[in-house]
Amino acid sequence: MPIPKKINYIGSDYTVELESKVTAKSGSMGLVDHAEQAIYINCDISPQMQAETCLHELVHVIDNKFAIELDETQVLRLSMGFYGLLRENPKLVQALME
Ligand SMILES: [Zn+2]
Repeated sequence: MPIPKKINYIGSDYTVELESKVTAKSGSMGLVDHAEQAIYINCDISPQMQAETCLHELVHVIDNKFAIELDETQVLRLSMGFYGLLRENPKLVQALME
């Protein structure tokens, strides 16, 4: 399933855009612009990496929303941890959605 073009999080609508300029802009696979409420994901990586990158950028959104002040390594580890947890437990994801 493709990544949705809009993600709502606690009253904020974030747009999600796939583009090839992301790497040049940020030196990474994704980028979040909190002021513009926009997430940019490199379109040249695999769909699975795009999804994982989107989750990573959403951890940045949560960090920003709650003023947690995570550093990049913490964001990376949290997003990898959640990605693995959600991927390996589809029944848990279903239960969370009910
Ligand atoms: Zn990051």
